Amino acid sequence: STLFQAVELAPRDPILGLNEQFNADPRSTKVNLGVGVYYDDNGKIPLLAAVHQAEVARVQLAAARGYLPIEGIAGYNKGAQELVLGKNSPLIGAGRVLTMQALGGTGALKIGADFIKQLVPDAKVAISDPSWENHRALFERAGFEVVNYPYYDAVTHGLNFKGMIEGLRSLPQKSVVVLHACCHNPTGVDLTVDQWREVAQVVKASNLIPFLDIAYQGFGDGLEADASAVRLFADLDMTMFISSSFSKSFSLYGERVGALTIVTGSQDESSRVLSQVKRVIRTNYSNPPTHGGTIVSTVLNNPELFALWDKELAGMRDRIRLMRKQLVEKLTQYGVKEDCSYVMKQRGMFSFSGMTAPQVERLRAEHGIYAVSTGRICVAALNSKNIDTVAKAMAEVMK
Ligand code: PLP
Repeated sequence: STLFQAVELAPRDPILGLNEQFNADPRSTKVNLGVGVYYDDNGKIPLLAAVHQAEVARVQLAAARGYLPIEGIAGYNKGAQELVLGKNSPLIGAGRVLTMQALGGTGALKIGADFIKQLVPDAKVAISDPSWENHRALFERAGFEVVNYPYYDAVTHGLNFKGMIEGLRSLPQKSVVVLHACCHNPTGVDLTVDQWREVAQVVKASNLIPFLDIAYQGFGDGLEADASAVRLFADLDMTMFISSSFSKSFSLYGERVGALTIVTGSQDESSRVLSQVKRVIRTNYSNPPTHGGTIVSTVLNNPELFALWDKELAGMRDRIRLMRKQLVEKLTQYGVKEDCSYVMKQRGMFSFSGMTAPQVERLRAEHGIYAVSTGRICVAALNSKNIDTVAKAMAEVMK
């Protein structure tokens, strides 16, 4: 027998599996709404002008590519922590904030998870119901028991806030609570600032460990507004973990740009925590790559490039909003009787469209339009050319 004889075939990733099916579909009218990627109105992944300018400058420098420090580029880390906590954060001033460059938001979650496993080995991890499909797998793979707290209410297409609060209150002390700081994936349903305030108070009172995942900062209401949940937690003076992703906001998916930020209790704690997190990184991949990090760092630290980036982000955000509005209008126009205005209230790239699994299946089989079986669609994959076809087909299966 060989070493691998007993290896079982793992189930396909549901979303990547959908992509494979889409690619094999010969219909020229096909549309892929299953992905988690922002496309422009021409259906292309944009190369942002701010990114391009930073990249050209980088190439002209003809810089050598030595190893980076284990925790990454200092300017990148400073820029990343100021984005989430604010330039004038008293926590940063007090030396209580550590940021480590990470391999995307996923890498930040994984480094954080491995470190928490070392600190609180028996902690439970609670994720929203539903959540980004990799949250459960990632924390289970790091050795945790993962449970759900109530989140989405299918009847109202909104938030089950009461259920969420009760769910959080019932968790054992020192459980890790993973919260989508803005633009919830997959539902698009976010908390109001008042609801966040209450959640933060419950998390603090129940002595839970907040892990704020912010993968779409800038796609909701803007860079500052989208950080308000993180800042509410910071105002309560809580120790916490924050995973940032720049994959979407810089349209740099393949560069693996993200950051893990940890708020500690004191400057002294910070140096000890940093030394331990560096060990986690060192034994995983040693140190992060240079290219994407240099570009993000350049944009974050150059006022003109930052302003250009902010403007381009606003453009992406506004285009998604326009697609939401047109989708709602067209669904009504094509005969959907139910009020679909909840699609307008949702934030970020995704919408829980309200379609059922059989409706999603019909959409694929009859119209070549691909969505996730939960009814999640990527609004950022809609454009002025495909929206009419998509709305018409959706209306047909939803009627
Ligand atoms: N967290 C959430 C909620 C996400 O939706 C995603 C990406 O889809 C990530 C984390 C991971 O981001 P990255 O691609 O930067 O690893």
